[in-house]
Amino acid sequence: RPQHLAIYGKGGIGKSTTTSNIAAALAEAGYKVVQIGCDPKSDSTNTLRGGAWLNTVLDRTRDGSAPRLEDIAAVGYRGVICVEAGGPVPGVGCAGRGINAAISLLHELHLFEEAKPDVVLYDVLGDVVCGGFAVPIREGLTDRVYVVSSADFMAVYAANNLFRAINKYAPSGGARLGGLIANSIQPGFSRPLIDDFAARTGTRAVEYVPRSPTVAQSELCGRTVIEAAPASPQADVYRALARTIVEDTSSVIPKPLAPAELRQWARDWGDLLLRDGAPQPAAVAA
Ligand code: ADP
Ligand code: SF4
Ligand code: MG
Repeated sequence: RPQHLAIYGKGGIGKSTTTSNIAAALAEAGYKVVQIGCDPKSDSTNTLRGGAWLNTVLDRTRDGSAPRLEDIAAVGYRGVICVEAGGPVPGVGCAGRGINAAISLLHELHLFEEAKPDVVLYDVLGDVVCGGFAVPIREGLTDRVYVVSSADFMAVYAANNLFRAINKYAPSGGARLGGLIANSIQPGFSRPLIDDFAARTGTRAVEYVPRSPTVAQSELCGRTVIEAAPASPQADVYRALARTIVEDTSSVIPKPLAPAELRQWARDWGDLLLRDGAPQPAAVAA
């Protein structure tokens, strides 16, 4: 059975960028990869396909027609198979239910038997962890979840909510947490802050991805960093991240902070940084 890995995180935090670079790095290393965009934004796989938009599964099924595999799956960079679940008509229907329908259809069309992937990546948003968006965590569809977070409070807040969802479903067969992917890391406090949050919630950062202009430059030409700037240090970070998440299969049930605890934790960090202007994570922990 292939490894099924779900990437969650706040909107705009870098899930699609990170997921596509993981897919490209794995493909480069010889893995057969399927990437399924489960965000109604439907732009998960664009940089694997020269910036092109893919027809979504939900668009293809909306008129009641039965699409074939080749109508909804496209081959991207180095053979990565790309799928976009899509979203409901704005204002109508449940985006979460749409994800579920899209994944069921992929199973019915025998995508996994035909493509025989080693790794299946689900790029899912995580601002809301309603029943709908928790589907990939909940129903045993995925083996492990990785949560992308920067050091911004709202990103950490979304990560903590995802931990609550994982914590709820993992004991009854839901996915466990592989770890945090720390994104947009800059010199200063972002790394110690994320490390402190990870330690307090019983997890770890599996990789620290720097904030880098190479990402935006690659995106402008509709490509991943792996494809557009293969010799860059940023490409090597994505290669290391990709290797870690397929080779290190350890996982935990995270211990989310209570909402009041999380707010107090953030305030302590804020006070400390405003006072000292330098990261002193040990002082926060004390
Ligand atoms: P999401 O899928 O979580 O909504 P995206 O992957 O679309 O987020 O990323 C949002 C924006 O942030 C994109 O323009 C992307 O290029 C940029 N971005 C993501 N990660 C980085 C990074 N490490 N360095 C610089 N820019 C980044
Ligand atoms: Fe929206 Fe989530 Fe409710 Fe579906 S389950 S209608 S996605 S809030
Ligand atoms: Mg996205």
